[in-house]
Amino acid sequence: MKVLLTGGAGYIGSHTCVELLNQGYEVVIADDFSNSKPEVINRIKEITGKDVDVYPIDVADKNAMKKLFSEQSIGSVIHFAGYKAVGESCQKPLMYYRNNIDATLTLLEVMEEFGVNKFVFSSSATVYGENNPIPYVETMPITGCTNPYGWTKLMIEQILKDACAANKELSVVLLRYFNPIGAHPSGRIGEDPSGIPNNLLPYVAKVAVGKLPKLGVFGNDYPTVDGTGVRDYIHVVDLAKGHAAALAYAENHTGAEAINLGSGKGHSVLEIVNTFSRVNNVPVPYEIKPRREGDLPEFYANAEKAKELLDWTAELTLEDMCRDLWNWQSNNPDGY
Ligand code: UDP
Repeated sequence: MKVLLTGGAGYIGSHTCVELLNQGYEVVIADDFSNSKPEVINRIKEITGKDVDVYPIDVADKNAMKKLFSEQSIGSVIHFAGYKAVGESCQKPLMYYRNNIDATLTLLEVMEEFGVNKFVFSSSATVYGENNPIPYVETMPITGCTNPYGWTKLMIEQILKDACAANKELSVVLLRYFNPIGAHPSGRIGEDPSGIPNNLLPYVAKVAVGKLPKLGVFGNDYPTVDGTGVRDYIHVVDLAKGHAAALAYAENHTGAEAINLGSGKGHSVLEIVNTFSRVNNVPVPYEIKPRREGDLPEFYANAEKAKELLDWTAELTLEDMCRDLWNWQSNNPDGY
């Protein structure tokens, strides 16, 4: 039986694909390449020496999805496909709700039709909203999000919990990611944002490689260690291993389980900038800017549940993340 990765050509999907192929899984990718490049597939094959079937389709296209399921023997699904830019989701909320929720519903309907019951979902720490104390624990009450992107994650979590309540054979793992950064150590795959990056590390990397003049640090007057925002950064290769562990868990359980994938440690923006500069011996000019609207001062994971249920912990260090990101960015200054 094969594993279907929707959005498998994206940043987290491609790293998970490499990890699964290396572990001996057979993988099928469904990706419409709306926010990824076909070249990533060649790189995945190059790194692993293995083949992967690719369907260049929209997950919301039911007929195309049925064709995929009828041609491939799919045993489980990891659902990465979805729009993911917080700012854009505030400008175009309907587009976000339509795309992210429609794709998930279509996928679940087709899975039901073909009797596929194992599902791992790309959720996000953003579902903890703005009122929960840190560190975030899976048992905390979830009451709402601060932007439409986050709401799509929260709504899909609810849809999946309801689907599990109705279908006792369904097994769902809701992976709540913290801040994935870094790249595969080969430097052949990595994050390739289109346009000016929104997230911190892709921005830092573009400044370091000379594509952008300087980083704006959004606020230095937060109640944190040095006044700048604190997040829980996790190496994308660790994250990929977390998906493989979640898949193995889903094989032997039923019901819906939310699990944080984070390191359990927080790092400030300045700590990131300084570590990136030091490890890679490259300057990262920056200036302090006003706070970015909607940003929380500080959050990080309680990572105990992943350890208990999945036997998984983040192993790679901030230095590893910075080094691998630079290896990718400096060898691929224009992305794929
Ligand atoms: N950040 C920043 N400058 C940037 C992008 C981000 O100072 O150009 C800060 C941001 O305020 C936050 C941290 O870096 O404290 C991580 O931001 P990112 O957008 O990567 O992740 P998120 O805020 O979604 O956790």
